[in-house]
Amino acid sequence: MAFRPNGEPRAGGIPTSPDGGQVEYRLARNSVIREFHKGRLSRLDVCDAHPELLRAGRNLGRPTGDGCPICEQHELVEVTFVFGAKLPPGGICVTSQKELRSYWRREDPVVCYAIEVCVDCSWNHLIRMYPGRSATRKPASRRSPARTGRS
Ligand SMILES: [Zn+2]
Repeated sequence: MAFRPNGEPRAGGIPTSPDGGQVEYRLARNSVIREFHKGRLSRLDVCDAHPELLRAGRNLGRPTGDGCPICEQHELVEVTFVFGAKLPPGGICVTSQKELRSYWRREDPVVCYAIEVCVDCSWNHLIRMYPGRSATRKPASRRSPARTGRS
């Protein structure tokens, strides 16, 4: 069974951004947290992590250094799921950056979801969605901006 983290677009299939780039969900996340603190959303509404997501968070989550915005007791962890053709419908929870990059090298395109989870109170929200990059395409080299004539 595929879980759905808070904030994931409910449309079927794999959502992609118009330009195929990264989509940030921070604003949506922050507005959910605001609604919770105003009392318009209950813990039941926002702390509904799927058991699979909680398990992934416990076993594979990377500490974020941020405290949980809901229970304010535990540190959030981030888990990354990869979705794509020939992968399970519920996605694959990657255990390392190395594993993540191995999915990027596949011929079939993949989409990655980073989800923050509090394994204590079950708060969860999608943080960002981004397409897996092909390793054959080299990232543009960053050049330092032209000097602005400051002496
Ligand atoms: Zn929490």
